[in-house]
Amino acid sequence: MKSIVLDKIKVNNNRVDYFFTPNKNLQKYFNNNNNLFIEYNYELTEIPESILTIPFVSNIIPLIWITNSTIQVNELDKTFYDCLNSLKESYQNMFPNVDFNGEILVGKVVENSYEPKHKVASLFSGGLDAITTFIRVKDKNPLLITEFGWHESEMKKSEVWEADKENAVEFAKNYGLENILVQSNYGNFINARNIDKDFAKRLGDSWWHGLHHSLAIISAAIPLAFKLKVECIYIASSHSVGLEVPCASNPTTDNRIRFASGRVFHDGFELTRQAKTKVVVDYFSNIKETINIRVCFKNEENCCNCEKCLRTILGIVAEGKNPKDFGFNIPDDFSAHVEKFLFDNIKFFTKTNIMFWNIIKQRIKENKNNIPSKLMLEWFLTYDFATERKYSLIKYRVTKFFPILKRRISAKIFRIFESGY
Ligand SMILES: [Zn+2]
Repeated sequence: MKSIVLDKIKVNNNRVDYFFTPNKNLQKYFNNNNNLFIEYNYELTEIPESILTIPFVSNIIPLIWITNSTIQVNELDKTFYDCLNSLKESYQNMFPNVDFNGEILVGKVVENSYEPKHKVASLFSGGLDAITTFIRVKDKNPLLITEFGWHESEMKKSEVWEADKENAVEFAKNYGLENILVQSNYGNFINARNIDKDFAKRLGDSWWHGLHHSLAIISAAIPLAFKLKVECIYIASSHSVGLEVPCASNPTTDNRIRFASGRVFHDGFELTRQAKTKVVVDYFSNIKETINIRVCFKNEENCCNCEKCLRTILGIVAEGKNPKDFGFNIPDDFSAHVEKFLFDNIKFFTKTNIMFWNIIKQRIKENKNNIPSKLMLEWFLTYDFATERKYSLIKYRVTKFFPILKRRISAKIFRIFESGY
């Protein structure tokens, strides 16, 4: 049977290292040194092994399920251990084409409990979803958890993390809150490419998006949620009810995670991204403050030229507000900028992209009278995403196809000449 054994947990001040051994069949799913680490801005003393083991199990367990393997650990928190079966069931329902099996072997299941001191700790990337959740829970004085999981085998300075951290610390300071800062290699210690080669087709999704990211992100926060006695960890939804796509982070999965006396809540699932945009712009307009909404993935600041940046920018415009007040330094020729972006990129739009952009178009139509004229894009109201995509794809294929054909023909002529005909 395929197995992974957690050999050793090493705690050094703020950092925990997990050393493990996958057997031969599973080694290809891990990168070189079989080590997961997490570093916090708090000391890890007095956190029991049964709690520290939770992030390790969380990162590995979906792989155990889909490969029908066993995972072996010395100690594990009882509440967390008990939630694993229902969590497995949720993922099985989400991905019916892959069998979720496997087994967890625990030397000692340990009961842990505490009297909660903090009602909420909220995962905080600084993005639109996270800010919406912050607004919804701010009266509970949430601890703000910000994470960077993309270190390689060693910790190196990352400009992206520095910018994320600075933003989160500044934000917390403004609201008199405290930060939990987490750095890890959880996004890199697994060889996701090899898992995707074997499973992505059957899953209909990638390992990171479909199975891993939510458990990695939430579980990294659990040791500190235990130390600081947090009642509930909030994670902001990225998707919304009625517009569901399979995704590791979902109310049916996240809300089933339990540990010691703590639980997890997937927040804002009832709101569309546009509804969240409204929550955020209304809130900050009312208190007359500007805010940086950080949406550009793995970037130090919003580029204003990727799909997510422009989608958010137009969402803000649709609510009648200026994106410059929300961290988007849009160019003066805004209309031409959006037009050029769509001209260059519409061919890459997926059905989901088109669905999101159409919701924004609809909102611009409804709210037309409240949109400042210099931001109003009249042409956008009749822009037909599906048709434009179709034409753009045809054009793209033709322009790509002819040079290929030309190259092939010249190569053939060259061969004909060479062969003396
Ligand atoms: Zn961007």
